[in-house]
Amino acid sequence: MNVILLGPPGSGKGTQGALLSERAGLPRISTGDLLREAVAAGTPLGAQAQGYMDRGLLVPDEIILGLIADVLGSPGAAGGVLMDGFPRTVPQAEAVDRLLGERGRQIDRVLLIEVPEHELERRLLGRARVQGRCDDTPETIHERLRVYEEQTAPLVEYYRRRGVLVDIPGVGSIEDIAQFIAKALDL
Ligand code: AMP
Repeated sequence: MNVILLGPPGSGKGTQGALLSERAGLPRISTGDLLREAVAAGTPLGAQAQGYMDRGLLVPDEIILGLIADVLGSPGAAGGVLMDGFPRTVPQAEAVDRLLGERGRQIDRVLLIEVPEHELERRLLGRARVQGRCDDTPETIHERLRVYEEQTAPLVEYYRRRGVLVDIPGVGSIEDIAQFIAKALDL
């Protein structure tokens, strides 16, 4: 099963992604984590990505596609994957379709985690204090929410038209949301 977790920054994709990956036995691919690792390791890719991340902008599609082509094509991904924070643009979604299609696979479910905007801002500011992520300042939070609406929200229609999108209410206890997701995936 190939599953995408879709939702704005602060919607809980990371938390639910980690739980679901364990429960469903699906390897999780988080482009945000891969990029942060590349930045921390000081690789050329990390250096290219950092400026975008610090400003709350999306890293260009070519860089992201280079990053995930190998991961999606690896033997470890053959039994299905959980994509968290990816795809984030229509060209990325088309690339995923191509990469999976070449291997006779497809996107089976897209989980759209919905959270009201004021709650997203509250969570992201809280996370900034606890985790000290350098892209969680008030200015970049605002920018990341804007970028989500502009570049990522069109994916909702892209997947809804195909009948693979499931709406998940993202407010409530972590466990309740996890149960809702498990039901949506018939787990
Ligand atoms: P995340 O941890 O998923 O919120 O990602 C943190 C930052 O990494 C984002 O604000 C983007 O700058 C960058 N990023 C992560 N995934 C992607 C992606 N699929 N496409 C473009 N940029 C991404």
